[in-house]
Amino acid sequence: MKAFEFFASAVFWVGLSTVALQPTYSMAEDEAPEQLNTGDDISLTPDHPNHFKAFAPELPEMLARMPAIDPETGLHVSEVKPGLFYVTEGVYQSAFLATDDGVIVFDAPPSFAHKLPAAISEHAPGKAIRFLVYSHGHHDHIGGAHVLAHVEGLEVVAHADVAESIAKSWRPGFLAPTKTYTGPYELSLGGEKVELTPASFHAEDVDTIVYLAKQKFVMAVDTITPGEAPFMNFGATSDVGAYMTFFDTILEYEFDHILSGHVSVLGTREDVIKARDYAQDVWQTAGAGMATFLNRFNATLAEFEYKNANLAYRATIEAVRRDCARDVIDRWTGKLSVVDVWADSHCQTVILYNIMH
Ligand SMILES: [Zn+2]
Repeated sequence: MKAFEFFASAVFWVGLSTVALQPTYSMAEDEAPEQLNTGDDISLTPDHPNHFKAFAPELPEMLARMPAIDPETGLHVSEVKPGLFYVTEGVYQSAFLATDDGVIVFDAPPSFAHKLPAAISEHAPGKAIRFLVYSHGHHDHIGGAHVLAHVEGLEVVAHADVAESIAKSWRPGFLAPTKTYTGPYELSLGGEKVELTPASFHAEDVDTIVYLAKQKFVMAVDTITPGEAPFMNFGATSDVGAYMTFFDTILEYEFDHILSGHVSVLGTREDVIKARDYAQDVWQTAGAGMATFLNRFNATLAEFEYKNANLAYRATIEAVRRDCARDVIDRWTGKLSVVDVWADSHCQTVILYNIMH
């Protein structure tokens, strides 16, 4: 989103509200709560309402799902389907498929890409790396690709828009794609097939859904975080409207595992359904809150003696956001980890989307 759009929208709201509407909302309802306010800074000061211990701990069922990281390699590598290996260092995720004619690697996060060649040699001994597939163009998922620069004949496969973004990027570490596509694309190696489908749910240019039908394995990076509420601003999506459509798109695929790029846990269909229900709940809760926005803004502006419309606007956003986060946290604590850490940012994301669309 562009700053000027927000500004223009703010002026619209402020102008319309100041001229046309009478306040009907009571400020008393908007008074800041004295307990934990998840929108504020997390405090290290004992007895502060926002002391970090006031936030809920990670759910035991989430902790139980985390795979052990090998202390020697710093990685967890598991064969989730014959020849298909899942790799994580605990924060980022990647995978590789060993075929009769060599190996296909999916993403190369800089946090552990340098460990991938050894992991591949160990689990697919004697097999050459033939393809590296990019899920999207963000450095934190593919910026470690340079460690494969020495691999003879390596094909780097990405959407043409990702190739263009990489060509313009100042970040080191990328390998320029050698094979690009603009529509659905199929990769074949050693009798195995990989379907690449351009999509839009996260990156500012394009995302790709990677699908291995035989292995019932799908990859859609920076979407859900299995067992947890999504990361800040719904995985820092560049388009929350498009993000909301991701769930139905991905659920059309038949899959047992979803690699979503973050946390150490490989996701399941149930994780996608739970994340969809969560996102839709935030969407509806923030949307309902926005229906009260004008009245609340006018009440706030009156309270501020009509002296500072921008301040009243911000106070109103904070009030709507706080109510949304409180309701979402009430409903989802115990069902997903870290809801109280991120719900506030999710509400904020939907509120801004509502203002502008
Ligand atoms: Zn990303």
